[in-house]
Amino acid sequence: MRIEKIPQSGYEDVVKCTDPDSGLKAVIAIHDTTLGPALGGLRMWPYASWDDAIFDVLRLSRGMTYKSAVADTGLGGGKSVIIGNPKTEKTERLFRAMGRFVNSLDGRYITAEDVGTSVEDMVQVRAETKWVTGLPLDMGSSGDPSPWTALGCFRGMRACLEEVYGSGDFKGRTVALQGCGHVGKYVARHLHEAGAKLYLADISPERVRQVADETGGRVVDAAEILKVECDILAPSALGAVVNDETLPKFHCRIIAGAANNVLLREEHGQRLKEAGILYAPDYVINAGGIINVSIEVEGAYDPERSRKKVENIYHALKRVFVIAKEQNIPTNEAANHLAEERIARGRKATTARR
Ligand code: NAD
Repeated sequence: MRIEKIPQSGYEDVVKCTDPDSGLKAVIAIHDTTLGPALGGLRMWPYASWDDAIFDVLRLSRGMTYKSAVADTGLGGGKSVIIGNPKTEKTERLFRAMGRFVNSLDGRYITAEDVGTSVEDMVQVRAETKWVTGLPLDMGSSGDPSPWTALGCFRGMRACLEEVYGSGDFKGRTVALQGCGHVGKYVARHLHEAGAKLYLADISPERVRQVADETGGRVVDAAEILKVECDILAPSALGAVVNDETLPKFHCRIIAGAANNVLLREEHGQRLKEAGILYAPDYVINAGGIINVSIEVEGAYDPERSRKKVENIYHALKRVFVIAKEQNIPTNEAANHLAEERIARGRKATTARR
């Protein structure tokens, strides 16, 4: 196994690993550990080159620092990627080699499942390192993050309703949900129980039908969901939903959902502001999963403690809205300011202790 440091300005550690025995080619990026150990998932993807993999891991690890800072998880930001096809190139040897690679960082980076990896893969990583989360519940871990992400989204939507309408009551409110997958189906359930009227879309007819049957929601063609007239548009499938093409077609007052990277570019936050649409920054509203994992990292996993902390997403968003209003800036920028302020405060406290 060959481990090589790649100096990268603005990052604490970026390390590349090659292991000819297992075929592992991977990169771990530790962006910032000011607020705690760097936690972020392990992605497996058929990147065309090392450069592509490094670009992605840098972007994703930085995102985790911001997400954890706003969610107050006591964690820093990191991420790892394996270059490979998750459908054809997974082996136990590969994930065990990855486990040894993670272990070499002595707990400064903690991994978890992500796009292209599963709980089963994490069990293999666990054979080589204790610095892994998101294992099965019967291994004392925090289990599936999706219901927690959904709970956080639901609480965040309430903060949005209050901001726009002065009341957080869901009764009679309309929500257009794009994506009825792991998170979307739980979001739909919360909304239905709270009295919201649902429009549902998914490219999988079975998934959308199942959620519609359970919630009485109306099924909408996946190509039409972004255009539906509604109070809340909830992107919970893909990223880049807000772009030059979609912006003029929105008929909603709020955009708040589980998806990552909802804005194609940061400037689209300003465009939403100009259009009078309140945007719940993605990494603030979809932090329920990482908050749940952070409870596991703290010690014995306690779902009740997790619930309380996930519900705080409501307050985090309120804080973001206050900053946005005070400084007359888009909410995505306000969230970044909040994260940067918390990291700067953490850095000051660390320096003062030395
Ligand atoms: P998932 O794959 O289980 O669900 C996504 C659903 O979207 C699928 O049912 C898929 O068929 C559907 N879909 C794909 N393209 C679509 C389209 N064009 N129109 C309508 N539906 C479409 O994924 P998930 O775990 O539910 O995550 C959903 C989103 O939330 C992703 O962007 C993910 O990155 C983000 N997220 C998830 C978590 C989590 O805890 N799972 C945490 C944070 C963020």
